[in-house]
Amino acid sequence: MKNILVTGGTGYIGSHTVVELINLGYNVVIVDNLSNSKEIVLDRIETITNVRPKFYLGDIRDREILDKIFDENKIDCVINFAGLKAVGESVRIPLEYYENNIYGAVVLLEEMQKHKVYNFIFSSSATVYGDPTSVPVDETFPTGGTTNPYGTTKLFIERILMDLSKSDPNFNIAILRYFNPIGAHPSGLMGEDPNGIPNNLAPYITQVMVGKRECLNIFGDDYDTPDGTCIRDYIHVCDLAYGHVCAIKKLESKPGVVIYNLGTGKGSSVFDVLHAFEKAYGKPIPYKIAPRREGDVTANYTKVAKAMNEIGFIAKYNIDDMARDAWNWQKNNPNGYEKKND
Ligand code: NAD
Ligand code: UDP
Repeated sequence: MKNILVTGGTGYIGSHTVVELINLGYNVVIVDNLSNSKEIVLDRIETITNVRPKFYLGDIRDREILDKIFDENKIDCVINFAGLKAVGESVRIPLEYYENNIYGAVVLLEEMQKHKVYNFIFSSSATVYGDPTSVPVDETFPTGGTTNPYGTTKLFIERILMDLSKSDPNFNIAILRYFNPIGAHPSGLMGEDPNGIPNNLAPYITQVMVGKRECLNIFGDDYDTPDGTCIRDYIHVCDLAYGHVCAIKKLESKPGVVIYNLGTGKGSSVFDVLHAFEKAYGKPIPYKIAPRREGDVTANYTKVAKAMNEIGFIAKYNIDDMARDAWNWQKNNPNGYEKKND
């Protein structure tokens, strides 16, 4: 498989995956409606790789643009990053989330079927495990019990993919359940660029470091964990990007539906992450303890055995690397992609 359509390819994980794919010799076509990303990302991809991927400004719910893309390019595999992802927002506007994420995936799959493109990689999330009964979590753990509409879109799309695979055995599908992607490209040219106040831990911390926010609010220090803060499995976005290449290779063996957790297998607390960033920063980062955030689970990290044994996926970066690269990105781009590096 050589020709990859990346939906949402100018977004955070998509852009890093595009770089990884280009560096490994794949031909990449991107479709993105730029609802949560900027076209300047294409310049950054070109600076890093010396290749400018073909870009279609468009929406995965738009059959016309998808027809055009599949007619104009011989696509072997689609990686679907396109989707809305803000947990809090999904509670406020659930219908938009269901429409964009679920209807978008359905239209995309229908168009793939029509154009006989049968390889699909889906960005799912550890959130489909809900509040796991124990950690580490492996792929046989039950899914369900999602605590917000965003998570439910991931769960429903997974179910749709399983039904599709049963009905049409031509399809080969990799469902990748990401744990907590953080970090940035080591060049400092690409990274996470959230709109408004960041919901997630790492971008919030880097915005404190760069002086855009006063202090980190740690949501609860009374959990049943060694230091009282929640535990997650943070994975460097470049490792995650590589995971997609492993999945493409797996799809070449025509496996039907496969599911992999992508994480490092190591649980880190909020304080562990904060300390990693302090190491990168060389000084303390102001924080205060705030009330627990609704919907947070105490601990979630993965077993890595299945992804390691079946697709050869091993994360090589640790949280110090993630903090170093995230900080390098933020300090070079204090306003994200809004300003060029000058
Ligand atoms: P992102 O918002 O940076 O990227 C998503 C991209 O999709 C954006 O560029 C956006 O403009 C585009 N997009 C959204 N709806 C679209 C549509 N209908 N048509 C075309 N383009 C559309 O998000 P990300 O962090 O890169 O996440 C990528 C995928 O991975 C998402 O599906 C997300 O739910 C999933 N995921 C992310 C995380 C995380 O922590 N970042 C964790 C688990 C899963
Ligand atoms: N967190 C925090 N302050 C913040 C953002 C997040 O203490 O400003 C905590 C949050 O409670 C959770 C961890 O950091 O325990 C990771 O949160 P994030 O939103 O990044 O990921 P998710 O909750 O989706 O795993």
